[in-house]
Amino acid sequence: MPDSLLIIIPCYNEEEILESTYSQINNCLADLKSKELVSASSKICLVDDGSKDKTWEMIEGICRKNENFSSIKLSRNYGHQSAILAGLLENSGSYDSYITIDADLQDDIEVIADMVKAHSNGAKVVYGVRNDRSSDSFFKRFTAESFYKLMQKMGVPVIFNHADFRLMDQIIVDKFAEYKEVNLFIRGIIPTIGFKSEKVYYARKEREAGETKYPLSKMLSFAWNGITSFSTTPMRWVLWFGIFNFLLALGITAYVIISRLAGQTILGWTSIVLPMAYFSGSNMIAIGLIGEYIGKIYEEIKARPRYIVEKHMK
Ligand code: UDP
Ligand code: MG
Repeated sequence: MPDSLLIIIPCYNEEEILESTYSQINNCLADLKSKELVSASSKICLVDDGSKDKTWEMIEGICRKNENFSSIKLSRNYGHQSAILAGLLENSGSYDSYITIDADLQDDIEVIADMVKAHSNGAKVVYGVRNDRSSDSFFKRFTAESFYKLMQKMGVPVIFNHADFRLMDQIIVDKFAEYKEVNLFIRGIIPTIGFKSEKVYYARKEREAGETKYPLSKMLSFAWNGITSFSTTPMRWVLWFGIFNFLLALGITAYVIISRLAGQTILGWTSIVLPMAYFSGSNMIAIGLIGEYIGKIYEEIKARPRYIVEKHMK
């Protein structure tokens, strides 16, 4: 008997695309079942991340008419990462494997079959990796790829061009559940869990309808979260920056003393005000950066729930 699979789809204000996603993913699952790649008990779980449009009503309709679908409604918008987390933790224990995929199906559902095969060949995690981003705008591609490179430079164990399209075995979900952090950066955590992994490659498609739910501000805060939850390298940079400033200040001191001894009177305040501004500026950067990490510690220490479920539909 083949393994059971749950496909988890986070949805936030996706009314424009949900109907098309529904039929595509439904066909995809039916296809997997008919080829006996997954068991008949395999399902799809739609997670409504506090949508403000008709998304939840549509999800309810889908679950009523098709028993292959279940759903979770979160009490408010918690963000993409928490929506995935809720989908995984709320269903953990009921399936052999789990796939997470975005509602816009920009990630190719054709490779789901390859993921399932890699899993039955023993891989506990199968990463979906984009090898073609030509459908993304130059800006999106540039920022996204720089992000992966920067993360790798800082020692965050991300997989280049892999987002949150992946298959996880139940054991990975069990281990993932032990990571209690509030500042979630799932694609950084999964590779640290270990076990045998595999990659499948696909070309990222264009969003068919609706707009991105990741505007620049959310993208930046996500990237920042990824860096600060995994790496203390920026603090080290601050230290080096501080050391550099200190050496610079020594240089300036020498210059001032020599000028004084040479009998040159320094008249202008420029030479006083400029370094002052410069040093107080860099001090503020340093304090701000440390504050960022303290803020993270504060959030983690409160250990508030990472999501709250309002409703389930089985
Ligand atoms: N999403 C979510 N909560 C949010 C933002 C996004 O659940 O606060 C979902 C969204 O519905 C989609 C996925 O996360 O299924 C990825 O979002 P999107 O496609 O807009 O991001 P992009 O592909 O543009 O990076
Ligand atoms: Mg998308």
